[in-house]
Amino acid sequence: MCLYYKASNFFFNNVCLSFLYLCSTMEMSSKLLERAVAEISQLPGIGKRTALRLALHLLKQPVEQTQHLAEALQKMREDIIFCHKCHNISDAEVCHICANPLRDASIICVVEDIRDVMAIENTGLFKGVYHVLGGKISPIDGVGPSQLTVVSLVNKVKQGGVKELIFALSSTMEGDTTNFYIYRQVKDYNIITSAIARGIAIGDELEFADEVTLGRSILHRVPFENSLKNI
Ligand SMILES: [Zn+2]
Repeated sequence: MCLYYKASNFFFNNVCLSFLYLCSTMEMSSKLLERAVAEISQLPGIGKRTALRLALHLLKQPVEQTQHLAEALQKMREDIIFCHKCHNISDAEVCHICANPLRDASIICVVEDIRDVMAIENTGLFKGVYHVLGGKISPIDGVGPSQLTVVSLVNKVKQGGVKELIFALSSTMEGDTTNFYIYRQVKDYNIITSAIARGIAIGDELEFADEVTLGRSILHRVPFENSLKNI
C-alpha cells in the first residue's frame, strides 16, 4: 500500500513537473504570438495553453473580428465610469437605474459589487436603487471601511430622503461585519434597516441543508400567507 502510494505520488509529481516545464518552455515561432499569449494569460483563470488556443482561434478568424474585440475592450476600459450616486458601472454620470423616475430612491439595497446588482436586477422584483460598496470589510485582506464607499452611503442617510437600507451582502463573517459597521453609523437616523432573508434554497431537500442555514431558516420563519405571495 505504502509502495503503491509512493509510486503513484512519484508519477503524479513527475507529470506535474513535466507539464510545468512544457508551459514554461513553450517555444513559439513568432514573438508577436508570444506577446499576445502572454497578455491573454494575464486574465484570471486563463493559463498559457488556453491563451495560446484563444490566440490561434483569433488568427483563424477574419481580421475585423479581432479589431472589433480590441476596440470593444479599449472603449470599455477608457469610457466606462462609475455612477456618482450608487457607484455602479455606467456609461453616464448617473446610471440608468438611478436615473429611472420609476425606481424608488428612498429604498437602497446595499451590495458588495456590480455583479450583485446584475443578479438582483435579473429577478425583476426590486424597484428601489442600489449602493455598491466595492467590497467587504476584511482586516485579513487589508480592506478597511475607508477603501469602500461607506462614507458616501452614510452621507445619503444623513441628507434625508432614505426610508430603508436593505443589506444584501454575502453571508460571511466579512459580510456580517460590514453590515454591522454600517448599521452602527446609521442606526440613530429615522430609517428602517433590513437584511435579505437567508435560508433553504428553492428546490433544495431539507435533509441536505447545513445546520446553520436550517437553524436560521427556523429562527427567521415567515407567516405562511407571506410565503404564498412568492409562489
Ligand atoms: Zn446609479
